[in-house]
Amino acid sequence: MGLTLTVLGCGGTYAGPGNACSGYLLRTAATTVLCDLGPGALANAQRHIDLVDVDAIVLTHEHADHWTDLPVTRNVYRYVLDRPPLPVFATAGTQALARPFCLGGDPFSWTTIRDESRVEVGDLAFTFSRTDHPVETLAVLVESGGASLVYSADTGPGWSPVAFGVRPDLAVIEATFDHEHSNPVHLTATQAGERAAAVGARALVLTHLLPGTDPAGQRAAAEAAYDGPVHIAEPGLTFAVGAP
Ligand SMILES: [Zn+2]
Ligand SMILES: [Zn+2]
Repeated sequence: MGLTLTVLGCGGTYAGPGNACSGYLLRTAATTVLCDLGPGALANAQRHIDLVDVDAIVLTHEHADHWTDLPVTRNVYRYVLDRPPLPVFATAGTQALARPFCLGGDPFSWTTIRDESRVEVGDLAFTFSRTDHPVETLAVLVESGGASLVYSADTGPGWSPVAFGVRPDLAVIEATFDHEHSNPVHLTATQAGERAAAVGARALVLTHLLPGTDPAGQRAAAEAAYDGPVHIAEPGLTFAVGAP
């Protein structure tokens, strides 16, 4: 099994009906990582994996829609599963908010990540890049066995996946808005498409759509800016990354 990404939740800012907030499952035959853990993502993860098999958790930033299932995830690893401390890679700001929930028995081993950090988990190599967002937010490059994907986390138009210097097989880019805002802390679908084109991504997944935004309209806007295949993230969808 090559590298796959499964969407656990992709609601932008909050989750609409039937969705969860941001959460992605990254897997190879040897390694299982949860990348972001917004409300609802933990429940959906169990549709695909046994939680005892998780090798690490990566949290891109401190906004509540990206990590607030962690306090209840703590309950699983503290009280239910018997395993060594689970590595959590998170920004300093995320840790400042999350670690107080883990007092009195912290089942996690924490590592601070920042711009240009590189970490390895099993056969996955992660590189992080600071995005254009009001708090320290890290986009993620994941590489494994020649396959690569970029996840934008949350960003405004001041960041591009070109920052990683890698042409990814899959670009998972946020497209919160369907029109430009005067306070651009997120991207439009057009801007997501432009970024996929700029980095030469082989395929694009639009994610973090604000509930109520028309997915077909977002897809069309991205397709106008990018020639490759455009997908809309939905909970439960799995994407094979790179060659099988
Ligand atoms: Zn968000
Ligand atoms: Zn955010």
